[in-house]
Amino acid sequence: MTHPIVILGSGQAGISTVRELRKLAPEVPVTVVSSDDCSFYAKPTLSNALAAGKSAAQLVVTPAEKLAEQLKLTLMPHTRVESIDIAGRQLITDKGPVAYSALVLANGAHPIRLPLSGSGAAEVLSVNNLTDYATFRDALQPGMHVAILGGGLIGCEFANDLRSAGHPVTVFDVAPQPLGRLLPPAAGAFFAEKLSAAGVKFEFATGITQVDKDGAGYLLASADGKQFRADLVLSAIGLKPAIELAAAAGLKTNRGIVVDRHLRTSAADVYALGDCAEVEGLVLPFVLPIMNAARALGKTLAGEATALSYPAMPVVVKTPACPTVVSPPAMGAAGAWVEETIEGGVRALFKAADGSLLGCALLGEASKERQAIASQLPAVL
Ligand SMILES: Cc1cc2nc3c(=O)[nH]c(=O)nc-3n(C[C@H](O)[C@H](O)[C@H](O)COP(=O)(O)OP(=O)(O)OC[C@H]3O[C@@H](n4cnc5c(N)ncnc54)[C@H](O)[C@@H]3O)c2cc1C
Repeated sequence: MTHPIVILGSGQAGISTVRELRKLAPEVPVTVVSSDDCSFYAKPTLSNALAAGKSAAQLVVTPAEKLAEQLKLTLMPHTRVESIDIAGRQLITDKGPVAYSALVLANGAHPIRLPLSGSGAAEVLSVNNLTDYATFRDALQPGMHVAILGGGLIGCEFANDLRSAGHPVTVFDVAPQPLGRLLPPAAGAFFAEKLSAAGVKFEFATGITQVDKDGAGYLLASADGKQFRADLVLSAIGLKPAIELAAAAGLKTNRGIVVDRHLRTSAADVYALGDCAEVEGLVLPFVLPIMNAARALGKTLAGEATALSYPAMPVVVKTPACPTVVSPPAMGAAGAWVEETIEGGVRALFKAADGSLLGCALLGEASKERQAIASQLPAVL
């Protein structure tokens, strides 16, 4: 008996891979195993859905039954994978073993939790899937003041969305500016100014270390002894690739599950992509890298071994108060930022000594130059 191709995870990575595979192999048996309900949604909508008044159910793009029918899948929703038996070529799940002919690990990432102390620490929320979003939206009552821990991309998107939905918001970050890893100083200052003008309060150089319950809300304390009140606390510190299952099965892991350009892990017929994977040293938890990886892997699984390449993949930051596009230079790239303040925006270009463009951050009016500038950026891989 031929076993199916088994996909662990029904997020963007798992389902995009199946869509690509189906273009070339309409009939090959595919089983998707996931701890969630297998309904398909676009995760980026989680951080701009509050102002639009959307419930978790309204964010579902394709319900599970329809997905199964469209893609001719066997779905195993609400099924938790407990371990991977590489020698036996099967997943061990809480509903029994699932044998595979090939296995795709697309099991995402975990929100990083700060080591907070205090009686309210366990009640700090984070939003990385539809269920988290439903929990957050249910807890959020009109006018509640929300404290956001982390002024990165996801924290700032939630801050803008919460403001648009009428909530007071304070963003805390240990860095001196928002989007610290993506924006050079003038761009960071411009971004902070625009979001502040929209009503977002920032507390920079402030690391929250303690969250205590305080009546119906919370009292937050920083390392340097300052105190702040909030009705709800949302953590947006970042994500950590989910490598535990792979590591326990003896697969090579580093920051993510280590794969080559064919998305092959260190075990035969086991592949990985998406937020859980590290491709040639790159962990890129965004939609465009996933779509590129899924296209390559779909072909490989259909029998046409295909290496992944990444073009330049600028990320649009979903902050209407300051339209922003970023494409950070590769880690350790030699060069320098050149920042130019233009009417209503900042154009920041990261250039090598020979003048070639290696990265960019385009804010406000400059974000309209996205296509022209992106076309000059080098391929990522
Ligand atoms: C709020 C937010 C906003 C974002 N905005 C953008 C944006 O604007 N642009 C952009 O490019 N990117 C954005 N991203 C990132 C992008 O959404 C992710 O990179 C992408 O959705 C990850 O897809 P994935 O399939 O790798 O992981 P996930 O979607 O996390 O899927 C993981 C799957 O694995 C399953 N799973 C995990 N462990 C187990 C287990 N043990 N057993 C069974 N099943 C398991 C889960 O149920 C899930 O189905 C955003 C992310 C967030 C959180």
